[in-house]
Amino acid sequence: MPNPPQSFTSRLIKKEELTRDTYSFYFERASTFEFIPGQYIKMVLNIENPDDRGTSRFFSIASSPTEKEHLMITTRILKSSFKKTLGSLPIGSEVQMRGPHGTFVLDEQDTKGKVYLAGGIGITPARSMLVYLRDKKIAIPFTLMVSFSNRNEIIFQEELNALSDDARKVAYVVTSEDGRIDEEKISKNVPDLLDSLFYISGPGGFVEAMEKLAKSMGVREENIKSEDFPGY
Ligand SMILES: Cc1cc2nc3c(=O)[nH]c(=O)nc-3n(C[C@H](O)[C@H](O)[C@H](O)COP(=O)(O)OP(=O)(O)OC[C@H]3O[C@@H](n4cnc5c(N)ncnc54)[C@H](O)[C@@H]3O)c2cc1C
Repeated sequence: MPNPPQSFTSRLIKKEELTRDTYSFYFERASTFEFIPGQYIKMVLNIENPDDRGTSRFFSIASSPTEKEHLMITTRILKSSFKKTLGSLPIGSEVQMRGPHGTFVLDEQDTKGKVYLAGGIGITPARSMLVYLRDKKIAIPFTLMVSFSNRNEIIFQEELNALSDDARKVAYVVTSEDGRIDEEKISKNVPDLLDSLFYISGPGGFVEAMEKLAKSMGVREENIKSEDFPGY
């Protein structure tokens, strides 16, 4: 059953620096807030002089539904007035949220193998899915391949590598050192790709390139789900 979106306020309880400009923000989670791994929320901030990108953003929920004590989102704090405000939000501040939204979700009833291709920060829904599969002890084959342009941008590596087992595989690719995610790398990691469901998320250019690649390898359109993170 999908969970209908609700509007609520939530308090910032923790902020964690992952790289020079990437942070995880932990918010209080109400016991009534349920979601499916892969869904996202809309966040609205009070910004005194917002730039023309406005006062709201969408963020995938990077925490798993099984992590009951918080909702976590991970983002890069770059230039916009939204990000600057979020980055300097004092612990205890309340923000407005609405969600959950989205159909880019893990269907745990579907035992078909999953192949997840993430570009940089597009890894956030994959973290939610992998932690969920681990916590629920669901042995659906799941291969995550994530590409970062350089080593300094890598996030979640230690944690997600530790979730690897017979069913779950995690492969980090650093474009500047290993080249891009290509046909050879996918074939090496995924034996039965024509029977797999593909998830692709990240900046628009990455999503477009990976959709094209998957299709060129014979993956049917109905077996590809994509989530484009605009703005990067
Ligand atoms: C379903 C969905 C899920 C998403 N999930 C996530 C997620 O989990 N994590 C995440 O980080 N994002 C996510 N996004 C994208 C997110 O909503 C923002 O669009 C994105 O983070 C960019 O934020 P920003 O516009 O504040 O730009 P910034 O992050 O500040 O910057 C992005 C780029 O825009 C440039 N830029 C920004 N502001 C200005 C300015 N005023 N003038 C000139 N250049 C500027 C920067 O130099 C940079 O190149 C998601 C989007 C969708 C639709």
